Amino acid sequence: MKRNIQKEFHKNKSYFYFGTLISILTLLPQLLFSPNPTHSLLLIITFILLVTIPKFSKILFSIFIIFINLSNILIGHIALHWGYGLPDIKPRIEVAFLSPVYEANEYITNYIDYRDYGLISFSFFVLFLLYTFLKHFTHSYKTFKTIGLGVFTFVLLAVSFYKNPIKEIEPFSVPTKCYVVLNAKYQEDEIWKSREKYISQIKVVKADKKNLIYDKIIVIMGESANKHHMSLYGYNAATTPFLTSLQKSNQLYVFNAIAPTNQTRYSIPIDLTDANVHNYEDRFFHSCSSLTNFKNNQYETYWISNQGRVGKHDSSISSMAYEANTTFFANLNYLKAKEDDVILDYLNKLQTNSKKEMYLLHIMGSHSDYIKRYKEETALYKNTNNIVEQYDNSIHYTDYILSQIYNRFKNEKLLLIYLSDHGEIINLENNGHGFLPPYKDEYTVPFVIYSNVKNPRLDEIYRDNKKGYFNLENFNSIVEYISGINNEKKISFSNQVMAVEPSNIYDFDKLEFYK
Ligand SMILES: [Zn+2]
Repeated sequence: MKRNIQKEFHKNKSYFYFGTLISILTLLPQLLFSPNPTHSLLLIITFILLVTIPKFSKILFSIFIIFINLSNILIGHIALHWGYGLPDIKPRIEVAFLSPVYEANEYITNYIDYRDYGLISFSFFVLFLLYTFLKHFTHSYKTFKTIGLGVFTFVLLAVSFYKNPIKEIEPFSVPTKCYVVLNAKYQEDEIWKSREKYISQIKVVKADKKNLIYDKIIVIMGESANKHHMSLYGYNAATTPFLTSLQKSNQLYVFNAIAPTNQTRYSIPIDLTDANVHNYEDRFFHSCSSLTNFKNNQYETYWISNQGRVGKHDSSISSMAYEANTTFFANLNYLKAKEDDVILDYLNKLQTNSKKEMYLLHIMGSHSDYIKRYKEETALYKNTNNIVEQYDNSIHYTDYILSQIYNRFKNEKLLLIYLSDHGEIINLENNGHGFLPPYKDEYTVPFVIYSNVKNPRLDEIYRDNKKGYFNLENFNSIVEYISGINNEKKISFSNQVMAVEPSNIYDFDKLEFYK
């Protein structure tokens, strides 16, 4: 027996060494990125399996090697660009699967770089080695065949009793998580329908008519705007000439505020409903947005959006969008984004009237790819040299859009509010939002309010803001309070913010700026 084993081992040496080399190279990238010991342990167990499998099945070995090498490209991309602090890639898969096509295209141009090409080349090199292995290497295992099958079965059984199911840990979680995301998409209809039904039964609290001092209330929900790139907030380039000039009227209130999360699909529902950083899901499904509250208090409501209508990460948002009397998506082209002036075109087509109206304008703002977010002819920097200038141009363009909206409504009793869903990291080395762990830059957003009507409540919350920054998780309460449709003032001074998804909560004060 012992002699047989020795003989078999010597006879199949090159087969064994080559198979082991392929296994090591396959697991190397994930071992380098591994976020914790549990994950590393799983990779070591996988390595043991990979060494035993070719003794009895080349096909099974190939399946494992191909699967892990392909998932290395995905997991490596997340680790290199967005941080892999927690071994959960589900929110990334969600965003990837469910964005409009133009967003995916812009993402690829902006975020796939030499590191990804390096990783893709490496993975395909390993797959080439696998091809060579399958084609040119054979074995004559007999005893090892039985031992290999035994070890494989034993490890598989042992792992199935392990407390963290394998399907929760990368790379094996990739198919289950893809399945969960796609399945959720199919069930979504029911979820939004039940929220709609709940809202239709909400008891309406009518405001005192004399408190309704505005005829037009315009909320402009910005995108990826970092206030530290606005001259209004002290930035050294003149990116916000309009807001800066409006400030001289003494009718513009400039607030110190942070966004509740660094992801669009959570921040906008949290801003506009009773949902907050610590209680997202239940509160979101059991509350209406401010749109319904305005609608129930004499205001004709509009949700005008230049963001994509499709995409899961817009669906909690579109669930709110359809609370309005009129919902309009300015861009129905899935392949190409449009500049934000499409919103002006829509507004300009509306008849001027004396009715009370409330608008939620959801703009593309400074969403990457920044170069596509402004018009060259009016840009602050013509022929930009780098991504920071492109980003600043997008901020400058938003300032122009704000000026046009202001001009359209300035002769009415007007409340005009501009805020952003979240901030953005923006410098020459890196840019974006949705990092884990997150950075301060992803939460430092503009929050400004213009009122051409004297409003003691607005003065009051401006004084409150001197005590500390607002967390915009209660933005809905602020807008309803200063508009007079709600007498209860709920302001959040919380330093707790969400990153990527509800399970990750951080203390904003302890976060670092990117550089
Ligand atoms: Zn966003």
